Amino acid sequence: MKTDNRDVVWITGARRGIGAAVARELAEAGKRLALSARRAEDVKELQTELREHTDVGIFSCDVADRASVTDCAQAIADEFGRIDVLINNAGVGVFKPMLELSPEEFDAMIDVNLRGVYNCTRAVLPDMIERGRGDILTINSIAVQASFANCTAYGASKAGALAFNRSLRAEVREQGVRIMDIFPGATATAIWSDDMLEEFGERMMEPRDVAQAVREMLETSRRAVVEELVLRPRRGDL
Ligand code: NAP
Repeated sequence: MKTDNRDVVWITGARRGIGAAVARELAEAGKRLALSARRAEDVKELQTELREHTDVGIFSCDVADRASVTDCAQAIADEFGRIDVLINNAGVGVFKPMLELSPEEFDAMIDVNLRGVYNCTRAVLPDMIERGRGDILTINSIAVQASFANCTAYGASKAGALAFNRSLRAEVREQGVRIMDIFPGATATAIWSDDMLEEFGERMMEPRDVAQAVREMLETSRRAVVEELVLRPRRGDL
C-alpha cells in the first residue's frame, strides 16, 4: 500500500473563527485535516466544504476534558495513522473588569486556554517524539505581549500557556518536535461582542490573515522554527 506523506493536522475548536480559517488555508496547502469541535456535528459543514480539496475527518473534543482529549487523539490516529501537527486553537475569552468576572468565568479560561493546551499536547507528544518529528502550534494572543484592562484571566491563561510552551520547546527541540506560538492582535471573530465588532471591526484583522501566517510558520524549513510570531492589525492594538 502506498503511504500518504501529506501532514495530518489536528485543529481544535475548528467550528468557526480562526480555527475554521486555518482549516481552509491548510486544506488549500494540501494537508489532511482532523477537525475537532465540542460537538463533531458542528464541523460537518466545514468538512463537506473542504472535502473537495483534501481528506477531512471530524471529531468531538472538549479540550478541557482529559478523557475527551485522549479519546479524540486516539480516534484521529485510528483514522489517519498519525498526527503530524497539532494546532491548539480552542479558546475562550471573557473581557470584563476583574471584580465583574465570575469565578466560573475565570476557571473556564484557565480550563480551556491553559489546561486545554496541556491536555492536547500531552495526547500527541509521545508519538511525535517516537517518530522524531512533529509540530505543535498554539494560537496565543497579543494579550501576553501588551497589557490590557479587562483581560486578567484571559491574559493569565495565555501567559501560562506561553510559559508552558517555552519550557516544552527547550525539552523537545532535540527530538524533532517544533513548538510554535503565534500572538494575534484583534481579529474579527465571535470572541468579540457585537458592539466591539461594530465599533472596531474595520481595523481588526480577518481570521484568514492569521491563518496565512500559521501556514507560513508550518511551511518554514524543518531546519528552522518560527518560535514566536507577533501579528498585529496594521493600525495597531484597539
Ligand atoms: P471564536 O470564534 O470564539 O472560536 C473559538 C473556538 O474555540 C470555538 O469554535 C469554540 O467552540 C472553541 N472552544 C471553546 N471552548 C472549547 C472547549 N472547551 N473545547 C473545544 N473547543 C472549544 O474565537 P477565535 O477568535 O476564532 O479564537 C480562536 C483562538 O484565537 C482562541 O484561542 C483565541 O484566544 C485566540 N485569539 C483570538 C483573537 C481575536 O482577536 N479573535 C486574538 C488573539 C488570539 P464552540 O463553537 O463549541 O464554542
